[in-house]
Amino acid sequence: MPEETIAAIATPPGKGGVAIVRMSGKDAFAIAEKMFSPAGKRAVRDFAPYRLYPGQIAAEGFSDYGLCVFFRAPHSYTGEDVAEFQCHGGENVARGILKRCFALGARGAERGEFTRRAFLNGKLSLASAEGLADMINGESDAEVRAGYLLYSETLTGKVRACQDELKELLAGADAAADYPEEDLEERTAEELRPALGKIRAEISALASGYGQGKKVKSGVTVALCGKPNTGKSSLLNRLLGYEKAIVSDVAGTTRDAVEGTIEIGGVRFNLYDTAGIRESGDKIEAIGIERAENIVRSADIVVLVSDETEGAGEDARLFSLIGDKPLVRLFNKADLGGEAPPGTDAAVSALTGEGMEKLREILYEKGFGARSEDAAFLVEERHFKALVKAREALLRAEEGCGVRPLELVAADMTEAWETLGEITGETASEAVIEEIFSKFCVGK
Ligand code: GDP
Repeated sequence: MPEETIAAIATPPGKGGVAIVRMSGKDAFAIAEKMFSPAGKRAVRDFAPYRLYPGQIAAEGFSDYGLCVFFRAPHSYTGEDVAEFQCHGGENVARGILKRCFALGARGAERGEFTRRAFLNGKLSLASAEGLADMINGESDAEVRAGYLLYSETLTGKVRACQDELKELLAGADAAADYPEEDLEERTAEELRPALGKIRAEISALASGYGQGKKVKSGVTVALCGKPNTGKSSLLNRLLGYEKAIVSDVAGTTRDAVEGTIEIGGVRFNLYDTAGIRESGDKIEAIGIERAENIVRSADIVVLVSDETEGAGEDARLFSLIGDKPLVRLFNKADLGGEAPPGTDAAVSALTGEGMEKLREILYEKGFGARSEDAAFLVEERHFKALVKAREALLRAEEGCGVRPLELVAADMTEAWETLGEITGETASEAVIEEIFSKFCVGK
């Protein structure tokens, strides 16, 4: 247990009903005992852990009446002795109590230091701590859901299973390498190849979740394209539910990309209206067109809006930008009674709102995918990169079986094992750990 006892306010600054001051470390109970006078006849040292006791909390300059709870090491959040005060809300009440903790020997906790101690004491993996940060910082339901899956060691569990399999294979390979019989080495390599292939497939399956995980974290980018006056701005407004883009019936007035965000099924969708992508002699419009092209290039999904019943001619420039991105063909102004051309995904009316629910469903399905949301926990680029690197090392090992000496194959296997350890934290560098915990707030 580290020498120092740390203390911090765990609740956010500002006014609220209740605030929490927490301490962790070897002196946490002793300090709490000095500043807490329990109601009734019970003495602090007789407190049962995990139970809330009412009483008077001595702060610097005043007292409050609140609750005190102890969590005994190692069965606490940090794995150390933890004492918490639940006091009345308002920054000054909690700050006064914190000052008292300092006066009695605790020091101020750094960002994420409670969770860092939990990690160092083996209470959670590094990926789990990252999941916690994702939950706290999550801006959509999907992000919080993914953060919770990470936090509850979903990824760590799968990664550790791969590591365990690898370790077993490594033990076999090492043993065979120690006995320099040609035959044994050959046989071991023969058996090793399919076993490594199986682990590589598991890692590939995990890594493939990043396509969706990335969208959970940063949202799905939707580009609204189409000729001027087809109703792109009106559609955007309809989807956003308020007037944001400027609606005008003069062609070419939507010069800038307008951004708005909606949530579909808990996932964020970032919508961009684009100026028409077409040749133009107008300088200002040319800038708008360049911007629009960049949006289409970086979009996850493109919505092509048309109001022509005949079906618009394909715009070669636009279609080369779209490439193989998912495309939604939308027929707008359905309220005017026209028939949607063949190949239309949905007929809608920005004016009446007709077809909007269908459009949201299509956006979710084509933009986010039908994959189960419970599988979307690979949201961190760091995890994805480590999986890719581990997969490469495994491929080298696999290809080396029976070709290179077993020792060299084992070296690649070890590299794969260590790379996977960066996810769980076993082999993560101090710099990486530092960066992860700096994303937390003080008091977590
Ligand atoms: P944009 O240039 O593609 O962004 O098109 P706007 O959103 O500015 O719309 C062009 C014109 O079409 C405006 O006069 C809108 O009021 C009109 N408009 C847009 N959507 C609809 C619709 O669903 N039905 C009808 N009848 N008019 C629409």
